[in-house]
Amino acid sequence: MGDFKYLMDRSEKELVGVHATVAEKARELIKKAYDEGIGIAITQGFRSFAEQNALYAIGRTVKGTKVTNAKGGQSIHNYGLAVDFCIFDDKKQPQWTVNKDWKRVCAIAESMGFEIGLKWRFVDPPHLQMTFGLTLSQLQAGKRPPTSAKVEVKPVSNVVKALQESYEDRPIVPYPNKVIKLGARGKDVERIQRAVGLTEKQVDGIFGKQTEQKVKEYQKKHKLAVDGKVGSNTWNMMF
Ligand SMILES: [Zn+2]
Repeated sequence: MGDFKYLMDRSEKELVGVHATVAEKARELIKKAYDEGIGIAITQGFRSFAEQNALYAIGRTVKGTKVTNAKGGQSIHNYGLAVDFCIFDDKKQPQWTVNKDWKRVCAIAESMGFEIGLKWRFVDPPHLQMTFGLTLSQLQAGKRPPTSAKVEVKPVSNVVKALQESYEDRPIVPYPNKVIKLGARGKDVERIQRAVGLTEKQVDGIFGKQTEQKVKEYQKKHKLAVDGKVGSNTWNMMF
């Protein structure tokens, strides 16, 4: 875990434009995590519509791998009500593996009133938000929470167990921006093979009939469209 001042300073830059209550809770979360020996910092806060549109363009009209499915106005970040965090090691390097510590931070965040992306159907583990009862469409229509808006706080013990039971440790791997299907080969296929539960002996990086069958079972289990191909929805559910 990096030093506390570094984590706070790094976060503070990102908290510009974030709702006062959300920013305050984010600072409190950094402190609480640090007290438990987990160094985290906020890596994203407010994003303007223009910034969001620029992100949306990546992998679409601009070269690169898609980073978001939200256009300007479609992300809670655009209203200053969301932050993303990441764990930092001693060398101040971000660590993106969703492990026990990561889940612990999410549990603390949830107890503090944050809604956590780790629990979403399309998981977004770094994401934390507080909308104070407002929906995205209400925000899009111009409604805003009062600057003094408060959130309900729950005991952390109530949420920790459920979280730790429902999520296995896994790295976040961005979608390679191409559908991976029968005949594909390589590292991404190996990742998929592990995610669908093939044994290490069976992991060979070749997307064959057995992998396809396993992907179908995985899709069925997670209520995704069952086609045996790994597109962005299946990928994002896996990673
Ligand atoms: Zn986010």
